[in-house]
Amino acid sequence: MIIELKSDVNDAQANKLAKELLAIYMNRGDQKLIVTSSKMKGVESHYEGMIEAIHVFDSDIQLASRDFSKSTIPVKVGEVTVGGNSSNTLLIAGPCSVESEEQIEDTARFMKSIGITALRGGCFKPRTSPYSFQGLGEEGLKLMASMREKYNLSIVTEIRDATHADMVIDYTDVIQIGAKTMYDHGVLRKAGKSQKPVLLKRGFGTTLQEFVQAAEFILSGGNPNVMLCERGIRTFETKTRFTLDLCGVAYLKEYTNLPVILDPSHAMGHAYGVPDVTRACTAMGIDGLIIEVHPDPSVARSDAAQQLDFSTFGALYNSLKPIAEAVGRKIV
Ligand code: PEP
Ligand code: MN
Repeated sequence: MIIELKSDVNDAQANKLAKELLAIYMNRGDQKLIVTSSKMKGVESHYEGMIEAIHVFDSDIQLASRDFSKSTIPVKVGEVTVGGNSSNTLLIAGPCSVESEEQIEDTARFMKSIGITALRGGCFKPRTSPYSFQGLGEEGLKLMASMREKYNLSIVTEIRDATHADMVIDYTDVIQIGAKTMYDHGVLRKAGKSQKPVLLKRGFGTTLQEFVQAAEFILSGGNPNVMLCERGIRTFETKTRFTLDLCGVAYLKEYTNLPVILDPSHAMGHAYGVPDVTRACTAMGIDGLIIEVHPDPSVARSDAAQQLDFSTFGALYNSLKPIAEAVGRKIV
């Protein structure tokens, strides 16, 4: 249940009420909210003088629910707004990992030249094997930050665990929380304390309910700027890396108020399929896409098989524009 408090209720009164209800109090500036468990369906009558409105839900998808906010919440990534009144489909692109100055600069220069505004690149990589490349760490973050300065690109990079969360949050424009990290409550709580946009990826064994509840940790922590990212779930199929759950995307669009971003690269796992899947995703009318692109995918130090080279990505980018337009959207 979400209780909207009257504007004259002060923080001390609100905190006291939240404590009595075993709930979370959030002062969002224009809104003072108390969020309880969804099992609670009302309050005792002596609290009524403090209350503007009450919203009741059938599950703990509450702040993220379409029933709470009819319109998709706006999230600003640099100059670009996703969600809100915009009809933007934001294209985020770049390598899986930052590997060297030359590699990230070649990519940033290319992205800038074709009009891309958001550059991805992981520096703390959540690898399946301890013997694989783990990322450049802070050195990589510095390279990403210098690409922001030099090419005026928004940078998107991931937190692997809570030990370096503050450092990544300081450097990045968009906080990426990966499929393996989305259960790390230390990371979710750190992201909730920031106001920077968060790209929260769905774990590959995560139900939609669990996924959106992870977003609720960030939202209820005080950060309203959360974007959900579907990147494929594990099914019986092994010919593709994961199975992109487009039905789940339809559910997220219908029942949540958060922008939805799709990651065809990790779902497909093989570059040959990424352009077709990206076009299919675009036709769903989504808020954004995140695609892995590398100057020379054959030598990439992580996710080599799925990264697109510049010419394939450039052609894909051009082919997306009319598809987005056909569903009332604009690729930005
Ligand atoms: C990535 O974006 O490179 C990544 C590790 O993705 P995921 O967390 O979805 O596996
Ligand atoms: Mn990757």
